[in-house]
Amino acid sequence: MAEWTKSDWRALPRVQMPEYTDQATLESVEAQLAQFPPLVFAGEARRLKAQLGAAGRGEAFLLQGGDCAEAFEQFSADAIRDTFKVMLQMAMVLTFAAKVPVVKVGRMAGQFAKPRSAPTETVDGVELPSYRGDIINELAFSEAARMPNPANMLRAYTQSSATLNFLRALSKGGYADMNKVHSWTLSFTEGEKAARFREMAGRITDALDFMRAAGINDGATDALQTVDFYTSHESLLLEYEQALTRLDTTSGNWLAGSGHMIWIGDRTRQPDGAHVNFASGVLNPIGLKCGPSMTEDDLKALLQKLNPKNEPGRLTLIARFGAGNVSEHLPRLIRCVREAGATVTWVCDPMHGNTVKSASGYKTRPFDAVLREVREFFAVHKAEGTVPGGVHFEMTGQDVTECIGGVQAVTDENLSDRYHTACDPRLNASQSLELAFLVAEELSV
Ligand code: PEP
Ligand code: MN
Repeated sequence: MAEWTKSDWRALPRVQMPEYTDQATLESVEAQLAQFPPLVFAGEARRLKAQLGAAGRGEAFLLQGGDCAEAFEQFSADAIRDTFKVMLQMAMVLTFAAKVPVVKVGRMAGQFAKPRSAPTETVDGVELPSYRGDIINELAFSEAARMPNPANMLRAYTQSSATLNFLRALSKGGYADMNKVHSWTLSFTEGEKAARFREMAGRITDALDFMRAAGINDGATDALQTVDFYTSHESLLLEYEQALTRLDTTSGNWLAGSGHMIWIGDRTRQPDGAHVNFASGVLNPIGLKCGPSMTEDDLKALLQKLNPKNEPGRLTLIARFGAGNVSEHLPRLIRCVREAGATVTWVCDPMHGNTVKSASGYKTRPFDAVLREVREFFAVHKAEGTVPGGVHFEMTGQDVTECIGGVQAVTDENLSDRYHTACDPRLNASQSLELAFLVAEELSV
């Protein structure tokens, strides 16, 4: 078999990608991106892979979260910091409950391209191409806005590099101090409605007090002051991905330089398609979304293509079946992995199988359904004797009203108050932290 090259995907069937008409601009953009620095370094991707391997064995736990789609207009330091902040709060609660390190991976600094359920959208009798994320076209409903524009890739790159730069500063510059992170969580649990979580928060306070008294927590310890925070996105727009793919001179392998981890969506995982081919050749950890339509035959082919050497941490299977459907699909796929003798890390995405249209017309997700799917995921792993390796959420640190339920009790009528997502509905800061406490309860039993 000929050796993989980063442009092999171009000869294969592709779905969910734009048809660019302006070839000259496309080529110029690709050439510019190919000159730009990669956003991540191969050593970082390898370290994340090792940590995801540990999550697959139950020696770590993955927390992956962020926007469904990053957007140019919503780019702000506050939005990045707030999502980072709530993820650290969640990670601390999960670390305390799971008693293993929590691997923190943002859907950030590159999560721009979106697969869509239909290629076009019709409003008042006018049919236009669907919005596919800011890296491709614009959300506004006009012919000009919906035209795929290759130049958007340059802006997505710039925004991603600034986001990652800020995340690196927040991770290492003092913001991530555990005592501070916990003090934010205490103010959440002090509220009347979060009383249920106060006891666990109190136990974390005791643990921190103990460490301080023992001199472990007096400012000198890096592990308490800084975090490793990784980035991830769906590897959908392959022109962009290819342009940022670089040779790692240490290993002689190729690195997708656009983010630490990339994943393949539930709509683009055809075993002989372009997206699987691209991911198969890069050294990064790869996520693979597994929805109800994933067959055992396809999964077997994908395990072989994406992780032929059976490397721990290389392949994360992200189950997204919907509450009520997990027991029908997860056991058959777990058995298929077992029969193949494959090493994978299982993660639960309780968002994408639980999207509903509310009575008011908004796309939403009920908090209860999200929680139910997580519980079903844990229960199946318990029954099968396999490891629930982590969770994957669409969430934001902002106080939006996009998912209904939670202790703040967002209702259908509230959805219009602060519905800001460019694509799917996200858990807000309070709902995210509440979910972390509830997942922590699952992990402690
Ligand atoms: C997503 O993660 O935003 C997404 C589109 O997921 P899926 O491919 O699982 O539908
Ligand atoms: Mn989504």
